[in-house]
Amino acid sequence: MNHFPIFVALEGRRVLVVGGGDAAVAKLRLLLKTTANINVVAETFDPVIETWAAEGRVTLIRRAQEPGDALCCVLAYAASEDAALDARTVRLASADGALVNVVDNLEASQFITPAIVDRDPVVVAIGTEGAAPVLARKIKAELEAKLPAQLGLLARIGKTFRKAADVLPMGAVRRRFWADYYDHAGPRAADAGEDAIRDTLGDLLASHVAAEDRPGHVDLVGAGPGDPELLTLKARTALDRADVVIHDRLVAPEILELARREALIIDAGKEGFGPSTAQGDINDLMVAHGLKGAHVVRLKAGDPTVFGRLDEEIEALDAAGLAWSIVPGITAASASVASIGQSLTKRGRNGSVRFLTGHDMKGFADQDWRALAQPGEVAAIYMGKRAARWMQGRMLMHGAAPATPVTIIENASRADQRTIAATLATLPEAVADVTGPALLLHGLAPRRAAQALAQTEIAL
Ligand code: SAH
Repeated sequence: MNHFPIFVALEGRRVLVVGGGDAAVAKLRLLLKTTANINVVAETFDPVIETWAAEGRVTLIRRAQEPGDALCCVLAYAASEDAALDARTVRLASADGALVNVVDNLEASQFITPAIVDRDPVVVAIGTEGAAPVLARKIKAELEAKLPAQLGLLARIGKTFRKAADVLPMGAVRRRFWADYYDHAGPRAADAGEDAIRDTLGDLLASHVAAEDRPGHVDLVGAGPGDPELLTLKARTALDRADVVIHDRLVAPEILELARREALIIDAGKEGFGPSTAQGDINDLMVAHGLKGAHVVRLKAGDPTVFGRLDEEIEALDAAGLAWSIVPGITAASASVASIGQSLTKRGRNGSVRFLTGHDMKGFADQDWRALAQPGEVAAIYMGKRAARWMQGRMLMHGAAPATPVTIIENASRADQRTIAATLATLPEAVADVTGPALLLHGLAPRRAAQALAQTEIAL
């Protein structure tokens, strides 16, 4: 980052614009949104600038720039649209102690003005350090469409309530109140006008004060298989609001990045939780933070309802009297099957699909291998790497064809995703060098390989 973004206080301070043409008009339009005292120096001025001067909004100095013009100015703009004149402005204004921007000249500028989305007092600044103005415009257009027009009004009224809201204890409780206002109550009341917003805010504050000592809430959230774009909007909202995030080892770092900046992030996969004590410790963590009033997000890979030990966590929350909810996620099987262009079920092939685990806490997990060995059966096998040889043995014993396709998808949906098209006969060798999380799709080959296979059969 070569340019550090800041918001400069301009109230009662001076800004100098050197130039009287189009470039100066464009900069002045932006600067007139602020409360700065603006001086414009040039020998001639565009009529628009003359009008602003007549309205008392800018002060004109009708001559070439002189040393001292930028004294006491925080910022100066070189907008003469003439390289030599602009260079002179940089020299003189810098000597006067101002930071200088040269219009449309990144290299010569000491600061740059970002693209802005204006919902005053909410202002979003977008900068690309000159790398991609088109991208900046696109982001601006997206944000313009996304941020409600009344956001500024909501924020202005919100500001007048900040003192009143101090009756709520700092931290989670107060944040919940503001989140309620900006996400729900405020936008609902916004169209009814300022008084209605004020009334709503008053009522909301009263209801939050009344509920002040309610315990926290735990969201049991599915983080999906890894690609942040496969998160649900609900999961994103939960992460946005979280005070505490307790996550599994498999949750991708890019997803943790989305948690609220102030949230306490706890890695429940790395802190020495052994298989037997882990769950108890995780339960204790959730309960302890929940009882303190925190909004806890228990973030689990994939879907929390699939091999996620969810019920044990829910029992612990119920026992502690904490409210909870489940936010489903995309399970590894869905991401894996999508990546090979197949379906988990298919008319005429399989009317049911099994999600099974290769091993459980007691060791290799026994399953209905006889049923799985039938032609056309499809199963998504979680945690199947270590049990691969054992599963192969059981299925062959029950008469499965050695050529039954088994596709291994390692790191499904992540940048380092890898697909290995194997068969029941080659499975143990095929998983040997798989180190990341992997899902085995029994009975499915990648679509292109399946086609290749069909063609070979016809040729034979
Ligand atoms: N709740 C998770 C599963 C947890 S069990 C879900 O719904 O996906 C952990 C197992 O899930 C891993 O051993 C692996 O078999 C599978 N898994 C999780 N994420 C995966 C990914 N990105 N790619 C492949 N398999 C994954």
